Amino acid sequence: MSEEIQKVLKNAGLDVLSCMQCGICTGSCPSGRHTGLNTRKILRDARKNRATVLSEDALWLCTTCYSCQERCPRGIPITDTLLELRRIAVKEGFMLPEHRWVSKMVMECGHSVPLDEETKKKREELGLDPIPETVQKDPEALKKLKKLLKTCKFDELVAEK
Ligand code: SF4
Ligand code: SF4
Repeated sequence: MSEEIQKVLKNAGLDVLSCMQCGICTGSCPSGRHTGLNTRKILRDARKNRATVLSEDALWLCTTCYSCQERCPRGIPITDTLLELRRIAVKEGFMLPEHRWVSKMVMECGHSVPLDEETKKKREELGLDPIPETVQKDPEALKKLKKLLKTCKFDELVAEK
């Protein structure tokens, strides 16, 4: 597994080996200020071939704001690296329940956060169409989206293993 981490990162051009552990990424991370996410540590673990990096809940606490990536003095594509690690983690069956739920919502209604009655009412009060022009309003488009997700086996990927 650890070899796979290195191989995938290398193939994607994600060179975590140049990280000098300065900690600027961690210091720039808005999520890390409130959670256990330590970006520098995740990169160090990936660099050291620690497969445990895949099962860490912290891997899922990144909001993909790209602050760390923008500031890294070594130009390491940090956020892309985290996303790549997540991709491997999902294949190995690691994913937070909240993310599984969001995936389920996308498969069911095409949105990570479905439109509820309260929001529809608020939109109406603002003079807006209660349902915006998205797949939720277009059953045919939703059907196509569901077919697409099924075809690429997204449902199997995010299913509890
Ligand atoms: S900012 Fe860049 S070089 Fe510094 S610890 Fe983070 S990834 Fe490594
Ligand atoms: S992209 Fe993720 S890890 Fe980087 S600063 Fe934003 S939340 Fe933190």
